[in-house]
Parts: sequence; C-alpha cells; structure tokens
Amino acid sequence: QAKTQAGETCYMFDQNLRDKLKQKSVINRHLLSALENRQFVLYYQPQVDIVSGQLVGLEALLRWNHPQEGLIGPNRFIGAVEEAGLMVQLTDWVIREVCRQLAEWKAQGLAVRRTSLNVSNSWFYNRSLIPGLLAVLDEFGLEPDVLEFEITESTAMMEEHYPLLQQIRDIGITVSIDDFGTKYSSLNYLKHFPVNKIKIDRAFITGIGLSPIDEAIIESIAQVASQLGYGLIAEGVETREQADYLVARGCRCIQGYYIARPLPASSIGPMLTPRSSGE
Ligand code: C2E
Ligand code: MG
Ligand code: MG
Ligand code: MG
Repeated sequence: QAKTQAGETCYMFDQNLRDKLKQKSVINRHLLSALENRQFVLYYQPQVDIVSGQLVGLEALLRWNHPQEGLIGPNRFIGAVEEAGLMVQLTDWVIREVCRQLAEWKAQGLAVRRTSLNVSNSWFYNRSLIPGLLAVLDEFGLEPDVLEFEITESTAMMEEHYPLLQQIRDIGITVSIDDFGTKYSSLNYLKHFPVNKIKIDRAFITGIGLSPIDEAIIESIAQVASQLGYGLIAEGVETREQADYLVARGCRCIQGYYIARPLPASSIGPMLTPRSSGE
C-alpha cells in the first residue's frame, strides 16, 4: 500500500515535471517572436490616496497576449524571459511603451500620473542605461519624474547597483522597493540605499485582522518609512477593513482590487483628469 502510494506520488511528480518542461520550452520558443510581433501589452493598476480619493499613480504590469492562449500573466513567463536572456530587451520595451502611453495621454490633454514599472536585477547589467533612459524620455517629451522603477529587495541588497540607482534617482526617477518585507528581515541596507519609497507586500496585507505578526510588521514598516522620509504604499489591498487599518497606521496610498484591478490603457484614460494649463 505504502509502496503503491509512493509510486503514485512519484509518477505524478514526473508527469507534472514533464508538463512543466514541455510548457516551458513552448514558452521559450515563442518569446522572441512575441517580442517581435508585439504580443506583449501593459495593463495599468491605479494607486490611490484613499484619504483624498486622488489617483496618485499607476503600476504598469506586463501581459502576454498569446495568439492561442489569450492573455497570460507574468508569473507564467517572466522566469522564461530571464532564462532566454531577453529580460533587458523586454524591460527596455516596457519603459518605451510606458513612455509612449504617457505621451499619448498627454497629447489627449490628460494629466499623466507617475507610472511605475518593474525592473528586474538583470536589467542593471545593461550598459548605457542613463543615456538610453534620457533619450527615450526626450523622444516622448516627458520629464523623468513621471517614471518610477520598482526593484526587489534582492536588487536593493546589491551594492554594485548603488551608483547606477543613485544616478537614476538623481535624474529624477523615483526608485521604490517592491514586495517589501518578504525577502530580508534586516533593514540595514536602507541605511545606505538610495531609495524613495517602499511598497508593503500583499503577504502582510492579507494578515490584517487575522495575524498579529503581520500587523506588527506593517506597523514597523510604516514607522520606518515615516521616520526615514520614504514614500509608502500598500499593495494587494482587497477590503475596506484592510484600507481602514492602513490609513490608521499612516499608509494612505493603496493599490489593490479594493480600488481596481490592473486595467487596459483604454480604461485608464477616462480616470485621468484634464491637464490644467502649465502642467
Ligand atoms: P508585483 O510587481 O508585486 O505586482 C503586483 C501583483 O499583484 C500583480 O500581479 C497584480 O495584478 C497583483 N495584484 C494587485 N492587486 C491585487 C489584489 O488586491 N489582490 C491580489 N490577489 N493580487 C493583486 P501580476 O500582474 O500577475 O504580476 C505579477 C508579478 O510579475 C509582479 O508582481 C512583478 O513582480 C512581475 N511583473 C509584472 N510586470 C513585469 C514587468 O514588466 N517586468 C518584470 N521584470 N516583472 C514584471
Ligand atoms: Mg511591482
Ligand atoms: Mg509587489
Ligand atoms: Mg508582489
């Protein structure tokens, strides 16, 4: 009996692995052509100051509009992008597409909001980053302060990136730490790190009202942010209760299904207010 069970488990594992590998190679083969054939699209998720009700920002989130499978989320292909060595190319495309979209909204007379995008560690090894960034911004007639780069804690830990991150900040792009609190318990790196803003991970938000540990972590992150003068936003907020809790702890900026899901650009346009003169 035990043997059969073990055998079954083993078989299932193999089958799973085989399916996974098969799926992976299919994805790998199609990535490059997906880039070339413009099958990637960006969705935008609103970030709202829940006290004032103002839309304060957007996060650009990648989707793959696959010809057979439809819209695929990044969790299913980001790993493959890294493996295929296409992350630099893809991130460059994301930056360009965000700028193009912001310029389009501007041309429609809309006030654009700062838009964040997710930058993975491998992108920082791309040469001529700063000139490239400035060229794209210039091409679309945008100020650097419309952009925000979300980096992970693992990137934030790597001191070799600090000079570059400092330069990115110096030209006026906001740098935030994504999924804050999930990877490293030490806050020591904040001491040296050129960061503007912290995003509290959804993993803690789901614990609000349920887990005193998660609540304690949220409180201490909020305290660190306020004492060090960092911006603060909570992501993955799904309920009114979570939002109220966060506001009471000084975290007014919120991103999550409670406000809105990630949406296509066409649904974001109507949320943007007309640009007042001089803006
Ligand atoms: P992330 O940067 O932490 O983005 C937040 C994720 O949480 C998004 O998933 C978003 O759709 C989801 N989310 C937002 N609000 C809620 C909520 O209230 N409840 C729940 N359950 N989920 C919520 P998504 O779009 O599937 O992206 C997953 C991850 O993929 C992102 O996590 C980010 O790390 C990565 N990613 C997305 N776009 C890019 C990209 O352009 N480049 C890179 N390198 N990574 C990307
Ligand atoms: Mg993010
Ligand atoms: Mg995040
Ligand atoms: Mg996350």
